[in-house]
Amino acid sequence: MPGFELFGEAEKKEVQDVLNSGVLMRYGFDGLRQGHWKAKELEKEIESNFDVKYAQLVSSGTAAVSLALASAGIGAGDEVIIPCFTFVASFEAIVMIGATPVIVDIDDTLTLDIVAVQNAITHKTKAIMPVHMCGSMANLDALIKICRSHNLILIEDACQAIGGSYNGKALGTLGDLGCFSFDFVKTVTCGEGGVVITNNNDLYTNADLYSDHGHDHLGIDRGADTHPYLGYNFRISELNAAVGLAQFRRLDDFINIQKKHYTIIRNELENLNGLTFRTVPKGGEESYAFLNFFLDDLDTARKVNSAFKSNGIDVCFHYYDNNWHYIRNWGHLKSQNSLIPLSKELKNGLSYLKKKSFEKSDHFIGRNISCLIKLSWKESEVVKRAKVMASIISSITS
Ligand SMILES: *Cc1c(COP(=O)(O)O)cnc(C)c1O
Repeated sequence: MPGFELFGEAEKKEVQDVLNSGVLMRYGFDGLRQGHWKAKELEKEIESNFDVKYAQLVSSGTAAVSLALASAGIGAGDEVIIPCFTFVASFEAIVMIGATPVIVDIDDTLTLDIVAVQNAITHKTKAIMPVHMCGSMANLDALIKICRSHNLILIEDACQAIGGSYNGKALGTLGDLGCFSFDFVKTVTCGEGGVVITNNNDLYTNADLYSDHGHDHLGIDRGADTHPYLGYNFRISELNAAVGLAQFRRLDDFINIQKKHYTIIRNELENLNGLTFRTVPKGGEESYAFLNFFLDDLDTARKVNSAFKSNGIDVCFHYYDNNWHYIRNWGHLKSQNSLIPLSKELKNGLSYLKKKSFEKSDHFIGRNISCLIKLSWKESEVVKRAKVMASIISSITS
């Protein structure tokens, strides 16, 4: 991450095609568009690269998660189980469609703790949404089993793990629906954008129409479409899709670069005392977007984090003290500070958060440091960075 570091001629060329025709919208205007269908082309590339039947591009990753939920018919009064370590977008997308996020502990994979998931299932649970944080995944075999036995939908928020895999399949394709973000800081960027992928024709059809005002896209033109259901506008523009098309074609290169940089740093840290790496579930391969490790305790992690900062080691995060990614600082959600009135179901549904504690997750997030792997680093820089990191950690832990 992030793809914007390598914005170049290929991206400019795709955008220029769109500018030449002036058709900035993804649907219609067939005669004017000079054969350019950037959003459709990008959807095809995603389907073939991930070996998945359907891709529906949208305007953001947050929109993708809301759309995935809506496509599965999830809404008011329904519960969706998610981890307490995730970007705020995961619960925003659930609240947006009126459903209740049921937030549970994580484990040393830095994503859903399986026992916590089992304990959280009620008669209102409709979906489980693992978030493959920082480049690696939840124990998907276990979650697939739970979803089958309780008849629940599995939605993968794979926004931070594009290019990772599990049992040889692309992340995002193991659940009923998978979501990716193409915002400006993700591994592949559209500027702003996202996608929902699925192998299920009904879910795809729902996603296609819900994301475009309920249009069934079966008419001879937009005016002739019918509207089987109420929909919304989550469309991506052709300009954004054009950037993403060029970027997505470079995904394999991006992952190779991430893997190379990740491996250099990991090898340097491998034998340090008092440091362990995050657990990757069996059968999983990370996207190498981040390198995650644990130190012995909260105090050590804080010291290492601040020594990294003062020694020029940027893009490393101690999420325990961060506002965006960990439940500790989501006061606005806990106290239901909403600009718009929330439904009774949602208010009641969220009230558990006033009391619930997350000791198990505190234990992992408190000790975790998460280092972003950049694409634009030179190899010599990565080698130097790795040595500085190792020497800072050993000076603090010894
Ligand atoms: C980035 C991100 C999103 C949301 O994506 P946007 O495109 O910024 O709306 C959702 N979930 C996770 C885990 C993310 O990292």
